[in-house]
Amino acid sequence: MILGGGPAGNTAATVAATLGADVTLIERDLVGGAAHLLDCVPSKAMIATGGELAGLRRAHLMGLRAEGELDVDAVRARVAGIEEQLRVSVRSLLESQGVRLIHGAGRFVDAHTVVVDRGETVTGDVFLVATGSRPRIPDWAPLDNERVLTTREAYPPPEIPTHLCVIGSGVTGVEFTHMFSALGSEVSLVVSRQQVLPAKDPEVAAVLESEFSNRGVHLLKGARATAVTRTGDSVRVDCNDGRHVDASHVILAIGSIPNTDDLGLSTAGIAADDQGYITINHNCITTLGHVYAAGDVSGKLPLSSVAAMQGRKIAEHLMGMHTREHRHLDYEKAASAIFTEPEVADVGLAEADAFAAGRKIRVTKVPFATNAQALIKGDPRGFVKIVSDPATGVVLGGSIVGRNAAELISVIAVAVTNNLKVSDISDSLLVHPAMAESLAEASS
Ligand SMILES: Cc1cc2nc3c(=O)[nH]c(=O)nc-3n(C[C@H](O)[C@H](O)[C@H](O)COP(=O)(O)OP(=O)(O)OC[C@H]3O[C@@H](n4cnc5c(N)ncnc54)[C@H](O)[C@@H]3O)c2cc1C
Repeated sequence: MILGGGPAGNTAATVAATLGADVTLIERDLVGGAAHLLDCVPSKAMIATGGELAGLRRAHLMGLRAEGELDVDAVRARVAGIEEQLRVSVRSLLESQGVRLIHGAGRFVDAHTVVVDRGETVTGDVFLVATGSRPRIPDWAPLDNERVLTTREAYPPPEIPTHLCVIGSGVTGVEFTHMFSALGSEVSLVVSRQQVLPAKDPEVAAVLESEFSNRGVHLLKGARATAVTRTGDSVRVDCNDGRHVDASHVILAIGSIPNTDDLGLSTAGIAADDQGYITINHNCITTLGHVYAAGDVSGKLPLSSVAAMQGRKIAEHLMGMHTREHRHLDYEKAASAIFTEPEVADVGLAEADAFAAGRKIRVTKVPFATNAQALIKGDPRGFVKIVSDPATGVVLGGSIVGRNAAELISVIAVAVTNNLKVSDISDSLLVHPAMAESLAEASS
């Protein structure tokens, strides 16, 4: 019995059904979840449009004359088309595996029973809570779905902002800054710390900051937004240091909160922390032995990829496959990417964290400026950095800033997950010309 049809819920449902379980999935809105319909996929579809537009503006560097003009209605139709295709394919996969789908919001009424708001009562032997999260909206920022928006109302907003103020400079904030500056908006980014992406390698953040500055993005470093006030067609954002931004639109990107407030968790005896994240062990089991939780509600890494992997591991665990070869999910080894331009991706141990822990490491860094393919593509920005164990050569982590970083990081992720050595990468015969050659060079 699964609550929520996002990557965590629908992956668990498909894998468990394939392994022979009788599966029911309750979904409040549409299968595919926020990941497909509201967050990852539409944001990346908009970023892809912005990327093509930016490419057209740079076409003269490739020996071309071309111009780009944005058609907002066509962008909206494209995003909706991609969402629909993904929704249909997830639904068909679930149906082909015999998963029973119930439309409605589920809520525990006791430890073994869920009631759906449309009236049905469902019982099960094993439950999975995978109800995801939603954007955090502070009381000082009154949303109006027109000019004061969360990321979910911005695919695209009713009109492309002339001047957008993005509040929050974590992953989502920098992606939306990139997206709208590529689409032609003037953008101001409120950065509460002294660097964008405060959790990332400072060298990585520096490349992105310099790219933003080159594009004319205004970075308000060390400023916390304290009030958002709309007057007519303009919105004013006040910060705690006395600065303010007068913008046409505001997007809030200040984190999310778990969808656990109306699930009857305490009635069922499922523990959650004071922010509402469900407590789980290394097998994603909650404080009730027959209830699992996965995805954003579990308070681990809020990534679609992690949610889907938790879903798969849960299905394998409950179907008894953990007694055979089974690896627990190691969240420290999750690769992640930021779809800015240039892209940013990392995995495993970060250089700064190793230094902070006093751990001996070897760090090799190779700029893409020496990579033939980067020059051919006209995009030599960024670098590859590989962190390894100086005694054994085992790859511990890596960061990439540059074109296709989100794809390239897979090589380092496979190495980190499987304890491969730098020589396993440098001895591989790779394609030439390819961005991946810089990975081999950084592994030499
Ligand atoms: C703007 C943005 C961009 C992102 N981009 C990326 C990215 O590029 N890559 C990446 O890996 N991650 C990305 N993420 C994170 C990713 O979207 C989430 O980590 C992922 O959606 C979590 O999956 P989930 O299965 O936990 O929940 P969700 O995808 O949120 O699905 C949960 C489902 O549960 C349903 N539900 C809720 N309550 C109930 C109920 N009571 N009963 C039944 N159903 C219910 C909801 O309707 C929803 O369909 C992004 C997030 C944001 C905000």
